[in-house]
Amino acid sequence: MTNRVYNFSAGPAMLPTPVMQKIQDEFLDYQGLGASIVEVSHRLPIFREILDSTESLFRELTNLPKNYRVLFMHGGAQMQFSAVPLNLMYRKKHKGSYFITGRWGILAEKEAQRYGSTEVLMDTKEYDYRQIPEFDISKLDQESSYAHLTTNNTLYGTRWHSFPDTGSVPLAADATSDILSREMDYSQFGVVYAGFQKNLGTSGTAIVIVRDDLLGNALPETPKLLDYAIFDEHHSIPNTINVFAVYVMRLMLEWVKEQGGVQEMENLAEKKSALLYDVLDRSDFYKAVAHPKHRSTMNVTFHFPQEELLQKFLTESDNEGLFGLMGHAMVGGARASIYNAMPLEGVAELALFMQEFERKNG
Ligand SMILES: *Cc1c(COP(=O)(O)O)cnc(C)c1O
Repeated sequence: MTNRVYNFSAGPAMLPTPVMQKIQDEFLDYQGLGASIVEVSHRLPIFREILDSTESLFRELTNLPKNYRVLFMHGGAQMQFSAVPLNLMYRKKHKGSYFITGRWGILAEKEAQRYGSTEVLMDTKEYDYRQIPEFDISKLDQESSYAHLTTNNTLYGTRWHSFPDTGSVPLAADATSDILSREMDYSQFGVVYAGFQKNLGTSGTAIVIVRDDLLGNALPETPKLLDYAIFDEHHSIPNTINVFAVYVMRLMLEWVKEQGGVQEMENLAEKKSALLYDVLDRSDFYKAVAHPKHRSTMNVTFHFPQEELLQKFLTESDNEGLFGLMGHAMVGGARASIYNAMPLEGVAELALFMQEFERKNG
């Protein structure tokens, strides 16, 4: 057996062991083909079957309404910071409205400024991004082309528990760090997108779920490979798709289904995060970053009484096989990313380690 640690990396992040083993088993000879799936044309029926079944599994797991298209696009999540304005800004005022609740929202709004005007509906900087206050939706310009939010703030460990009703303004959501970890009603959104590398597999590719009435009016300067309508028309292969990423995503979806689907992922995420939040809540030593009302179930973030203790914590946890706990440089402290693939036992071990560390250093 190889030596696998409990991997708390924020992204790319751990994959379930059975998924890794299946990749390994099939890598040289994909289901009797005598070649790897990464060695043959993406236009062969054998890959087409992977693509189709990945989409249908995603639809099944999310109960996706029929009027939504599923696209697989290059460039990870941040490429969608450009794609969303390029595809949606034609509507109404050529204007994007942004809920900024963390680092990714800042970058998304900045990118949109290249293509039209933007307005910031909310910027939680005044709360150091620790919470997401109530929002009075009458402040949203109903002539706006779209409104954009980040469902889960990966750096700070906060999330929207429920989403604002933006009326006739389509809501676009970056769901990279919590897709398939919670039940979501996709009909609330115009667009939902997510990079694969947290809950869906490997990096560099994003899934884009888009309501069909929003297709076909991209700004004229939109590059071919960012145009939703072109991806829709060519079934996500206007050029060579990342076959490996889609193949891994299918294995991830099959795994989620075997575990009991998104509802079960959500239950597990609640359970796992509660183990860590309990340690934080009962401690005078650790300081949780996120306000209890807005806590993420995917990224648990905390500080130490003295910053020097962070390095000690990282070294000692690493020695115990608990890997990747360093917080993002902009937030400091530690962060445990506990996406779908992280087993409950891994989190339980971390919770014990944290209590032990507090006892020795508190
Ligand atoms: C990780 C992450 C990103 C960055 O994704 P890239 O694929 O590197 O562009 C964007 N948004 C959110 C919410 C993330 O968690």
